[in-house]
Amino acid sequence: MELSINLTTQPKEIPADESKLGFGNVFTDHMFVMNYDEGKGWHDARIVPYAPIALDPAAMVLHYGQEVFEGLKAYRTADGSIQLFRPQENFKRLNKSNERLCIPAIDEEFALHALKELIKIEEKWVPHSKDTSLYIRPFIIATDAHLGVRPASSYLFIIILSPSGSYYAGGLAPVKIYIEENYVRAVKGGMGFAKTGGNYAASLKSQDEAKHQDYSQVLWLDGVHRKYIEEVGAMNVFFKIAGEVVTPALEGSILPGITRKSVIEMLQSWGEKVTEKRISVDDLVKAFEDGTFEEAFGSGTAAVISPIGMLKVGGKEYTINNGQIGAMSQKLYDELTDLQWGRKPDSFGWIEKID
Ligand SMILES: *Cc1c(COP(=O)(O)O)cnc(C)c1O
Repeated sequence: MELSINLTTQPKEIPADESKLGFGNVFTDHMFVMNYDEGKGWHDARIVPYAPIALDPAAMVLHYGQEVFEGLKAYRTADGSIQLFRPQENFKRLNKSNERLCIPAIDEEFALHALKELIKIEEKWVPHSKDTSLYIRPFIIATDAHLGVRPASSYLFIIILSPSGSYYAGGLAPVKIYIEENYVRAVKGGMGFAKTGGNYAASLKSQDEAKHQDYSQVLWLDGVHRKYIEEVGAMNVFFKIAGEVVTPALEGSILPGITRKSVIEMLQSWGEKVTEKRISVDDLVKAFEDGTFEEAFGSGTAAVISPIGMLKVGGKEYTINNGQIGAMSQKLYDELTDLQWGRKPDSFGWIEKID
């Protein structure tokens, strides 16, 4: 497919103070756009100046939430070059989400090609300071002007870029979480494994209540039995109990994180045993009570590794590893970020250079 390029005549000023970037506030000069129409397929792939998009007020995405998205980062290395971390996995997952939401599949290879071209054009927007990155947000929305409930026949696939600051402004620090007993984010048979806005909409209320209670995230339970651990906020979750690493198995309601997959593969490369299985609240309580609970952490693109220092179960608060970062959590964070920012050679084949 052809990729047409139309450069802006009014480039914006690139923020000089990278410590003030925050997350998702600033957007670059250009975006990638591609249309889908029934009978025509995906067409008109183009890089154009970043601008608001015109949507009919009846556009189906606004009413029934037919949309999917991805999140990944471009990293600046010490020699000034730019690289991506397992981007093929993101476009592969985008198509899995597409399938669940009746959105036509995209050409994964072409999407990666288009993303690389976009990043080359926006090269100057990739920040230089430690732990900063260019956040990449591909997404697809249903655009038919129609209020009947059915899959749409027209879509927009867009990629926008946002230079973002360090996730850990004050350094890697353990968070306080509690087990969510009132709300669920997904159920088996629903959309939990798909990266779609609806899952986030479902999680807002719980997140809001957690913030008010001064907790940073909630630990989600499965929606059917309300007893098996699923995810922590919008991250996958790992526990180290009695020397063994465990993480909830992917059974349809959990988002298959690329960081999760990388953590598992990295631990295995170190000779650690990782078990994907159902983990109940009772299993965790038992491990606290018998003193075998060693570490807990979330995994996701934004935070990479987020150590958990305290978990509240019912009314009871359990401190994990004295509220300190566990050795395994720290090592995973260091090794993953060393690969992502190019500080260590990539023996896994996970790095994709932009040239
Ligand atoms: C994106 C996401 C994750 C983490 O996935 P990564 O590919 O590791 O960034 C975990 N849970 C939810 C609900 C997500 O949306």
